[in-house]
Amino acid sequence: MGPLRAAAARGLRRGGGGGRGAAPAAREGTKGSAARGGRPAPPAALHLFGDPAEVEALRGSLLAWYDECKRDLPWRVLAVTEPDVNRRAYAVWVSEIMLQQTQVATVIDYYNRWMQKWPTLQALAEASLEEVNELWAGLGYYSRGKRLQEAARKVVSELAGQMPRTAEDLQKLLPGVGRYTAGAITSISYGQATGVVDGNVIRVLCRLRCIGADSSSPPVIDRLWAMANALVDRSRPGDFNQALMELGATVCTPKAPLCGECPVKQHCRARLRVEKELALASRKLLGKLPVVPDVEDCGVGGCPLCPSAAEPWDSSLGVTNFPRKAAKKQPRVEQTATCVLERRGRRGALEYLIVQRPSSGLLAGLWEFPSVPLAPGLQQEQQREVLVDHLQAWAGQPVAAGSLRFIGEVVHVFSHIHQTYVVYSLSLDGDVTLDLASSPSRWVTEEEFRASAVSTAMKKVLRACERQRGEESGPAKGSKRKRGAKPGAAGSTRPGTQLSLRTFLRAPNPP
Ligand code: SF4
Repeated sequence: MGPLRAAAARGLRRGGGGGRGAAPAAREGTKGSAARGGRPAPPAALHLFGDPAEVEALRGSLLAWYDECKRDLPWRVLAVTEPDVNRRAYAVWVSEIMLQQTQVATVIDYYNRWMQKWPTLQALAEASLEEVNELWAGLGYYSRGKRLQEAARKVVSELAGQMPRTAEDLQKLLPGVGRYTAGAITSISYGQATGVVDGNVIRVLCRLRCIGADSSSPPVIDRLWAMANALVDRSRPGDFNQALMELGATVCTPKAPLCGECPVKQHCRARLRVEKELALASRKLLGKLPVVPDVEDCGVGGCPLCPSAAEPWDSSLGVTNFPRKAAKKQPRVEQTATCVLERRGRRGALEYLIVQRPSSGLLAGLWEFPSVPLAPGLQQEQQREVLVDHLQAWAGQPVAAGSLRFIGEVVHVFSHIHQTYVVYSLSLDGDVTLDLASSPSRWVTEEEFRASAVSTAMKKVLRACERQRGEESGPAKGSKRKRGAKPGAAGSTRPGTQLSLRTFLRAPNPP
């Protein structure tokens, strides 16, 4: 192994990157971190595309493969067929924002519905945030939709409907547009020779050039951007960038790359290294031990692009030795008590009360069942008390904890929060008037609930409730009651039983 020292102290972990769904912050990268320090030393040849002929060959192979194998995706069609440059840029922009952290297969339907509803910047600018949230519901990372709309309004009101024409201006003028998105819009919509670096590109480039240092570190990110800008095909920049990302998504995948089918395998130094390691292992088996190992990193001491000495080459990983990322921060653990309040509406249909979340922070502006965060370590009865206190704020009088029926726990993992919803339900009768001044709220049928701007987590909560109801009303299936669901206990409700608000308010607290 080459003499690696400097990176040894950093705790790195193996494994491929998050594909096209890499975190937006990583995708948007650093806006010019190369300029922060002095001029960095030039990278070793191992990590460079130093031969112009090789660059040409790689571009040709990649584009030929893309022409033959690319997936038909709606935004790709619009990027080619839409004659109006602003509409074209808008179409690409929407797709790029939706694709952040989200699988292509999931995005397609959302994208089609979005473009059908708001085919232009002007149409989006006129939409309400509620409509945007409704359409975005289930796609996650809800601030993306909000910022997209804010930016569309800005283009319409301040830029006369004209999308900024350079990557620099896109970043400077539009909220939510970072380096990656700006590069994608300018290369795909305007045909400008700008590279892009997202999770897929990181993986492919790190493998092509044996970059094994932490792929989220500034020196590596800077090098990858420089490489992407140098490699991008001058005559077909948009196709080249999409081809590189497509390769990462479909061939050079995180855990099981299909090197045998790879159109650029002859340019891949990770693959070369695997071959050398195998040859070395064979020689060892045959007793032809080399005096010194003949597989080197780049030969530059303390190279900021080579793997850490603490995590040397692992022959069992093959090319997936590259790239490596710093260990992810564990999501923080939180608990929230949630109450599914039900009533029979005027036409007898079951209705649920939903309330709107604050306009900033996690799931901003979305609707949810009345919920309240729980401090760690509370017992079930204490959780009930916290929840009834929360509900009491609306009722304006004492609420009985025993009235709540425990449904179960629903876990939802956000990017940085491992959230457990402790779910209760409560059935109320007829005309219930609660003091709802503290937050906007409304009663919705199940159908309306599903069409509302509610998070995936809340849909899971409702499913849990419905499942419990189904189990309890099913014919002698030996349904298992979950903790707290005690039929006949004081204050509990049975399926089909409507608890009057008066009963609910007067029911005694359990001991
Ligand atoms: Fe990725 Fe394998 Fe192609 Fe190298 S040869 S770029 S590791 S798929």
